[in-house]
Amino acid sequence: MRSAEDVLSLDAAGLYCKPGGFHVDPMRPVARAIVTHGHSDHARPGHGVVAATEETLAIMAIRCGEGFCGSRRALAYGETVRVGEVDVTLFPAGHVLGSAQVLIEWRGFRVVISGDYKRERDPTCAAFEPVRCDAFVTEATFALPVFRHPPAAGEVGKLLASLALFPERAHLVGAYSLGKAQRVIALAREAGHDAPILIHGALDKLCRFYEAAGVPLGPLEPATGRNKADLAGKLVICPPSATRDAWARRFPDPVTAFASGWMRIRARARQAGAELPLVISDHADWDDLCETILDTEAEEVWVTHGQEEALVHWCGENGIRARPLHLIGYGEEEDAAPAADPAASPAPGPDASAAGGEPAP
Ligand SMILES: [Zn+2]
Ligand SMILES: [Zn+2]
Repeated sequence: MRSAEDVLSLDAAGLYCKPGGFHVDPMRPVARAIVTHGHSDHARPGHGVVAATEETLAIMAIRCGEGFCGSRRALAYGETVRVGEVDVTLFPAGHVLGSAQVLIEWRGFRVVISGDYKRERDPTCAAFEPVRCDAFVTEATFALPVFRHPPAAGEVGKLLASLALFPERAHLVGAYSLGKAQRVIALAREAGHDAPILIHGALDKLCRFYEAAGVPLGPLEPATGRNKADLAGKLVICPPSATRDAWARRFPDPVTAFASGWMRIRARARQAGAELPLVISDHADWDDLCETILDTEAEEVWVTHGQEEALVHWCGENGIRARPLHLIGYGEEEDAAPAADPAASPAPGPDASAAGGEPAP
């Protein structure tokens, strides 16, 4: 019987497809890489050839410089290309702009490496498409039943309600610079917030790229170079770390919000100093992870990173062969826990605050 191991193996750089001669989201420089999306834990510089969507290649160039790899190969969603002995096709992952799942077909055996993904509607990127396969490689960032993300539009509604209630206070939203920041802005626009939104300089290039790629974000202005009075009642988006440093002190009595799936956990919200925690995640929650595995009809599941054990257990109960890969090095940027102390940083096991500190909804 064929299995994922005929197509994929693990080496020091991560997932390797031997019949194709390439790695997927390698963690160290390799000759040939397929990159699922632009977050820095998946998209690293220094590879020979990088194949990815046009958007992901552009994001890598913005973040790592034009010389981030030897040569680039842009693949459109749904376009099948031969690589070594395998056929490769990218499908939308619904995670951030340009994010893709990688379908590898080898002698009729189908493996899908999903990268990071979500099922919830997102106005800033193409929607996730479940792809039927024999083996499915999934993340497990929020793979505990305690993680059920509420609709993001409702969370942004809380933010706008607070802005209406406290018109003299700036509202400072910590959101990861690729994906989350643009999604919060786009959702605020959908909810009717049409005033200029102020952005931290670190978001400028990526926001402009999203707009150029056809994702309207409305009027954006730099958050710096203004006097305090002019900042009252403004919506301000910045990287999570900026809410804690000297940069934030320019704002008058700011309401500090933080947009992350981890905000589901009260202890995490406290650690982040978030007065207004917004449960907005670009990762699938527990229900969506389980549903996706069933949708793929895969008989075999590999779990790359996050809360792997619970998902592997769930697969076993549902008659699906599963194994945890314990890939170290993913989950470091987006949706990482926004805490200053290392004890509370990302990629945790099911720690006390996640597993036991919060009643299931
Ligand atoms: Zn990601
Ligand atoms: Zn990731």
